[in-house]
Amino acid sequence: MTTLNLHTGAGALRAALKADGIAPWDERLALVPTMGYLHEGHQALIRHAAEKCSRVVVSIFVNPLQFAPNEDLDKYPRDLEHDKTACSAVGATDIFFPSVAELTPPDLRVTVDPGDMGAVLCGKSRPTHFRGVCTICTKLFNIVQPSLAVFGWKDAQQQIILRKLVKDLNIPITIDGVEIVREPSGIARSSRNTYLAPDEYRQAAFLSQGLFHARNMAVRGKTAAAKDLVTAVIDTITKNTAGVIDYVECVSVKDLSPLTKIEFGETMIAAAVKFGSTRLIDNVRF
Ligand code: AMP
Repeated sequence: MTTLNLHTGAGALRAALKADGIAPWDERLALVPTMGYLHEGHQALIRHAAEKCSRVVVSIFVNPLQFAPNEDLDKYPRDLEHDKTACSAVGATDIFFPSVAELTPPDLRVTVDPGDMGAVLCGKSRPTHFRGVCTICTKLFNIVQPSLAVFGWKDAQQQIILRKLVKDLNIPITIDGVEIVREPSGIARSSRNTYLAPDEYRQAAFLSQGLFHARNMAVRGKTAAAKDLVTAVIDTITKNTAGVIDYVECVSVKDLSPLTKIEFGETMIAAAVKFGSTRLIDNVRF
């Protein structure tokens, strides 16, 4: 267990880091951005950050800019006391817990545009989502000023866009990606799994099963055609569940461009499926 400092304002966080001799973009400082309600997936990111840096700030902010008006902003689960325990168990040193008013004041007018990468995959059904992610992550990067930021491959599109963001906007941060942490059923750990009714949870396991099946087909040389892999995922889901598929696509893990033929080391099959009212995302990369 590490001792944990809680900061509710940007000024207080920067002052505390300065008082401890941590300079802007200090190589000892890492940031793990989250929306809280932390689980083993988030903890894997924090552990990774703590292996590389002695000071690990976990930000907890349910970002209203990345939710559309019809989405689950109000019911998104929150539990700061649980999050404090989860953070200190795996080596975080600081929690940054800003208010909605501080990060998204009513007079906020300038936002960060993710470009064409924000319009594909999840961006098709959530057209304002990645602008919200890019805007808040840029603010977090500039407030915390870490040398390392850690993201999960669970949200692969987000991570790929943010890698491009720090490069294109000359933000001096390295981004590390941590592999998806899964439940024994294969389902990717997610705060949103708590919304699933037992039967929806059972059905949701076919999302990862379909993706694993497609990856096996590719790795075993059964096909190199992206459309065959996409069909295999869709078949697994439609034959076993009542889930409504948003998309299943085979894209480049470098820049999200569509692939017709798999390239080992560069391929991602990504999917989003709604089980009941809960939309889950998942992916495999190979
Ligand atoms: P969230 O709190 O859902 O915004 O997620 C915060 C960070 O944790 C993001 O970088 C996610 O990709 C990452 N994350 C969430 N769930 C998992 C998981 N099951 N495995 C790995 N990383 C995850």
